[in-house]
Amino acid sequence: MTQMIGTRDTGEPIQVFFSPHGTTARPPRIERGDGIYMWDTTGKRYIDASSGPIANNIGHANASVLNAMQEQAAKVAFAYPGQFESQANEDLADLLTDMAGPGFDRAFFVSGGSEANESAIKLCRQYMLATDQPQRCKVISRDPGYHGGTAGALALTGDQQMHDMFGPLLPAHYKVPTPWTYRLPPNHTRDSYARHCAQALEDKIQAEGPETIMAFILEPIGGVATGALVAEDIYMSMVREICTRHGILLIFDEVMSGAGRSGKFLAADYWPHARPDLVVLAKGIAAGYTPMGAVLASNELVRTVANHGGFMNGFTYSCNPLSCAVALAVLQQVQTHSLIDNAAARGDQLATRLRAMGDTNRTVGDIRGRGLLLALELVTDQDTKARVPLEMNAAAMVQRIGMEHGLALYHRRTAYGQHGDWLMIAPPLTITPDQVDELADTLAQTLRQFDQDLSAAGV
Ligand code: PLP
Repeated sequence: MTQMIGTRDTGEPIQVFFSPHGTTARPPRIERGDGIYMWDTTGKRYIDASSGPIANNIGHANASVLNAMQEQAAKVAFAYPGQFESQANEDLADLLTDMAGPGFDRAFFVSGGSEANESAIKLCRQYMLATDQPQRCKVISRDPGYHGGTAGALALTGDQQMHDMFGPLLPAHYKVPTPWTYRLPPNHTRDSYARHCAQALEDKIQAEGPETIMAFILEPIGGVATGALVAEDIYMSMVREICTRHGILLIFDEVMSGAGRSGKFLAADYWPHARPDLVVLAKGIAAGYTPMGAVLASNELVRTVANHGGFMNGFTYSCNPLSCAVALAVLQQVQTHSLIDNAAARGDQLATRLRAMGDTNRTVGDIRGRGLLLALELVTDQDTKARVPLEMNAAAMVQRIGMEHGLALYHRRTAYGQHGDWLMIAPPLTITPDQVDELADTLAQTLRQFDQDLSAAGV
């Protein structure tokens, strides 16, 4: 008798709830990983060119992290922070706040970036209540931008497609434009558009009532929503000044850019004159070895909330010993192997190779980012910056060709693809100079085929 289990007999993915951004094709099945490489069950090897979704900062199968995982699990995998504190939690908080530097003295741990952003917002709200400003409850964020998939984080996310779908379920949100640097509105330079976008924040604050605004959140180096966009320095200075002047807390969402990926531990370190009040981390702090996210804030902010009844926020897995021990071991690897310096050096090498690809391939448009958080924007003409026709879903095409060539790239379409098509190029921070060349060579082949496929399609 034939057994009918789920969708097995139809050949559809068993994970029926996972459709990678509109495609129906089944991805290869993963077998194992080692360093920057991954192998599927047929034995085919892939270069992990994006650390998954920019998560796996230290490469696959790191022996020290696996040992730490095993040791902590054997002692105690789980203990609820409402009942017990743990050495792993304390050690992780110490190391993380040391690495983050002054102003980020306290850490709260959760299970990922969305939860961390939700927690940051709740911390801001409690701070406003504790400082007798109960009318402050609005959070301004940027469009486009990405802050996560849970309701609060999705409200902050600037993505029209998401809001068309989930808008009625989401809390109120307040958006200002993101300061693009590549395709600018008519009559703007990068500098003037940066100033225009900062002024838009000021205007939004005035329109809503400065006394009602609690926080402004931004990605200091963009992720998937903007393809590693780096704002002009003037934008950051103006934003900091505006927030300070209005008593608004500035949050940097460093879920992607943090933990050394940008060539500094925090991307915030690139703008010392514009330090945020809170930083949100996830992904790289545990490098995909365990779900982990964190909110960092100052002693002053946390003590104010603590003295006013304590932080009213918790999840079953907050601060759990196993995840803390794993993240601690990951950050120790980052330190021991000087991976932040490596991210800066290999990032420069990789960016140079990516730019050089543009000399021989018309589809290479903008190269953006810092360190090993890079993106390559696809065009059909470098001079006009003309986009590949929307319906071709260019980045998905390149991703598919890349997989054929053994290159695992990451792209995600936002806002119906209206802002452009780009690929995130963000390998593990452990990558060597030779491996950068290998990645770049394979990407060049991939893009050559993409260019040929476009030409064959008459584009
Ligand atoms: N914030 C940023 C900037 C992100 O890039 C992401 C995920 O890609 C998130 C938040 C959400 O993190 P998570 O998927 O761990 O919930």
